[in-house]
Order: sequence, then C-alpha cells, then structure tokens
Amino acid sequence: MRQIHHLINGVTVEAGSGRTGPVYDPATGDQTGEVALASEADVNTAVAAAAAAFDEWRHVSIARRTKLMYAFRNLVEANGEEIAARLTAEHGKVLSDAMGEVSRGLENIEYACGIAELLKGEYSSNASTGVDVHSVRQPLGVVAGITPFNFPAMVPLWTIPNAIAAGNTYVLKPSERDPSAPRFIVELFHEAGFPDGVLNVVNGDKVAVDRLLHHPHVQAISFVGSTPIAKYIYQTGTANGKRVQALAGAKNHMVVLPDADIGLAADAAVSAAFGSAGERCMAISVLVTVGDVADPLIEAVTERMAKLKVGDGTDPRSEMGPLITREHRDRVADYIGQGAEAGASVVVDGRTTEFDGDGFFLAPSLIDNVTTEMTVYQDEIFGPVLSVVRVDSYTDALKMIQDNHWGNGTAIFTRDGGAARAFQEEVEAGMVGVNVPIPVPVGYHSFGGWNDSLFGDTTMYGPEGVKFFTRPKVITSRWPDPGTSSVDLGFPRTH
Ligand code: NAD
Repeated sequence: MRQIHHLINGVTVEAGSGRTGPVYDPATGDQTGEVALASEADVNTAVAAAAAAFDEWRHVSIARRTKLMYAFRNLVEANGEEIAARLTAEHGKVLSDAMGEVSRGLENIEYACGIAELLKGEYSSNASTGVDVHSVRQPLGVVAGITPFNFPAMVPLWTIPNAIAAGNTYVLKPSERDPSAPRFIVELFHEAGFPDGVLNVVNGDKVAVDRLLHHPHVQAISFVGSTPIAKYIYQTGTANGKRVQALAGAKNHMVVLPDADIGLAADAAVSAAFGSAGERCMAISVLVTVGDVADPLIEAVTERMAKLKVGDGTDPRSEMGPLITREHRDRVADYIGQGAEAGASVVVDGRTTEFDGDGFFLAPSLIDNVTTEMTVYQDEIFGPVLSVVRVDSYTDALKMIQDNHWGNGTAIFTRDGGAARAFQEEVEAGMVGVNVPIPVPVGYHSFGGWNDSLFGDTTMYGPEGVKFFTRPKVITSRWPDPGTSSVDLGFPRTH
C-alpha cells in the first residue's frame, strides 16, 4: 500500500504522530494508500523550516525567482499526464477532466512568472520640494494553504505560485483524501531548483489545521473548502491576528430565459452539473427555467443524460467518474429521496442505475418542480444532482438568487443583450457567466464568490492573490538641496 508522507525542508518526513488516514481508489472502492496525519510537532517542524528559509528567500532577486518559476511551470507541463493519473486514481474524476485541472493550475504559475511586473511599485517625484515618495509591496513571511479534496492539484496552485514568487515561504496542508497529486507537485517544485524550506507539505486533518491557525509564525492562511469550516478558519485565524481568505461552499444557479438556444443551454447544464460528478464549487446545481422554456429544456437535458457514460475515470470512454467516498455517495443519494418526499418530481433517478464492483458510483439525477424550501435546494449536495426550479419571470429568477445565502458563480442563458447586461449588473455572485455555465476566471483575473461563499476581503489568484500575499510599504525621502551638493549640478538654474 502506498505511504504518503510529509515533505519538509526538501526531505520526506514520516508522521511523528503515528496516526494515518486511508486513501481510496473511488472507482474500485479499494484502499490504495495510507496518508500520514500530522501531529502539532510535525506542523511546528514545517513552520520552522519555512521561517528559516524566509530570511534568505525574500532577498533572492526577482530575476532568479522568475527563472525558477518558469522551470517549475515547464516541469508541471511536462508531467501533466502523471499528475492527472494521480488525480484520477485518488479523486476519481475522468482523465480528461484531470488534464483540464492541470491546465488551469498552469495558468496560475504562468501568471506568477510575471511577478516582476506585479511587484512594481509606484513613484512620486518631488511630492514636496526635494521630497520623493515611493511604494513597494513586500512579502508577509510564512503563509499556509489548506485545500479541499475536489481540486487537489489546481487549488494549491491557485496560491502557491503568487505567494512564493512574491517572496513568502509556504506550508501546504492538502486534503487528506487525495494527497498524492499535491505531494508530487511539490516534488516538481524542488526539482525546479527552489531552495529547501520554501515550500513544505504537511498532510493531516483538524490537528494540523488547528496548529497552523494558532502558530505565531504563520502570517496568513489561504483556505478553500466547505462553508462551516471556512467560517471556523476565518474566525479562528483572524482572532489569532492572521490575514485570512477562506473560500467556501456554493449553490450555483443557471437561469435560462425563454429566448435561449435550448441545445446550447442543455449541453451547458449537463456538463456543468455532472462534470467531475458535480463535485465542483462552480458546478451548476439549480436550473432556473423562466416561463415556457422548462418543458423543452428538460426534454433536451434528459436526452443528453441518457447518453452520459459513467465509469472508471481511467477509461477514455467515461465522461463522469465516481464520488470521493462511499459515505459521500450515500449522502448524495439520500437527497434524491428527500426531494421526492418533499413533493418534487424525480425525472431521472441515478439510484436506479447499477454498477459492477464496489466503486463509489452514482449516476446523474434530475429533479423537477423543486421549491426553495426543499433540502435539495437549500443544501450544497456536491454530487451529480440537478434541481429544476420553474419561475414565471426574470425578476423571480433574480430574486431567488439574491435570497440565497451563497453567491459563488451563476450564469444566464439568453440571446437578449439587455437581459444579460441587467443580470450581470444586478446579480449577487462573485463570478457571472453569460451563455457560459462555469465562469471560472482566467489566471490574470481573480477567483472568489460573495456572501457565504467567501470569508475575507480578497479573492484568490491573479491580482487579488498578489495583494493578499504582500503588504504595502511607502517610503518618503528628503534629498539635499541641489545647491548644497559637492558636485557642481549647475544650480541655481536660470530656466
Ligand atoms: P472540507 O471543508 O471538508 O475540507 C477542506 C479542508 O479543511 C481540508 O484540508 C480538510 O482537511 C480541512 N478540514 C476538514 N474538517 C476540518 C475541521 N473540522 N477543522 C479544521 N480543518 C478541517 O471541504 P472538502 O469536502 O474537502 O471540499 C468540498 C467543499 O469545498 C465544498 O463545500 C466546495 O464547495 C468547497 N470548495 C469551494 C471552492 C471555492 O472556490 N469557493 C473551491 C473548491 C471547493
């Protein structure tokens, strides 16, 4: 069985706690690995390594940091298939999805390759007579990332490149459910030539997270995960004086207006609801149909669902893989029954599809006539279940989204420019798609939701990411009167 250890100061460190957690292949249900669960002492060792590396790393030139970041970028690209294979083996997503995850992660490394431009300060000459003012952004010190199971490669890459390129040192605590891909990425980071201690991995659970939240040398925490834990991380981290950004759960609505292209909207709904088995924070989980678009759209979605191939992620024919654990699969399946009991119509029931073996599979489900009081609407299911809520008007659709306590992503499908413009202006969400179901921003914008989908002031990666991992300093300098210089500067001037 594969053993997954910590990587501290450039070397593999076995868990001091003696505690381990199981890692499964979700396609077979077999346990394939055992991950070390850090003790407080393990976390202390990792933070000490990062703190020791910071003094030197922050003074390494921007030119050198940039060269190393390019080398890292090239290694991640060259090893994309290996990273994807590890993702599929422990998360279960199909290989094409896993390759997509690697590409989105690469974007963030590429952005950080431009750190020279991003850290350029501002300069005001002669703000007062003989006085110049300039500003710079400096690193914070040791920072930590705590990441979820659903994007084990991409989410760590949302923050590691900007944080490190800006001169910080880093401790990563990836999800204990699928730790091999992030661990491999950190090995590539070392292969690129970064000094030991600049990036460290501690595997673990609440024990490791709590130590990071209380450790006096950790200056900032970047978290991505579920809403209750995000709230806890934000409250505890900030109470301990740390800078915290905590990206949280979601319930993303896709509004389809009566004038929309039905084929385009149906394709989008199916890929956005069931891609990666719905285990995406930007997955569409509520289809809001306006007026008489509901029946033809549901018919088009149902036709496409019948053709969706669910199977082992390593099989190139599979379009959707298993869920992350047996417990999670059962919890998701339970919601379908809850919807039916509450009076919704289960149009496609994923529970009726049988699969060979013990993998954590659940076929996609479609539930119509859902109302906002039902648990299938209120809870983040995080699985392949798409709810349809029928409304009469654009205004009703907008109000439903405004009343929802989350606000990560949302989308509108229409051919009407006026409606699209009004929606993007008014809707309460951090990321909005117009005829785009999953509007994840490119690496040179920033990612984050509103309301209960984000606790903190800055969103992640792109310009906001650089801001989060640096603090501003403004220097005001008074220079001697040129007339008093020992060099003849030609003062006083006559023009
Ligand atoms: P999770 O909250 O269970 O775990 C996230 C991290 O927190 C993991 O590293 C885990 O070890 C740690 N953790 C779990 N319980 C903890 C506790 N009690 N105390 C301290 N630390 C704890 O989330 P998950 O199940 O791994 O990921 C799925 C969730 O993440 C979904 O809610 C999804 O919407 C969300 N997510 C959000 C975004 C976003 O950008 N908003 C992106 C990806 C995932």
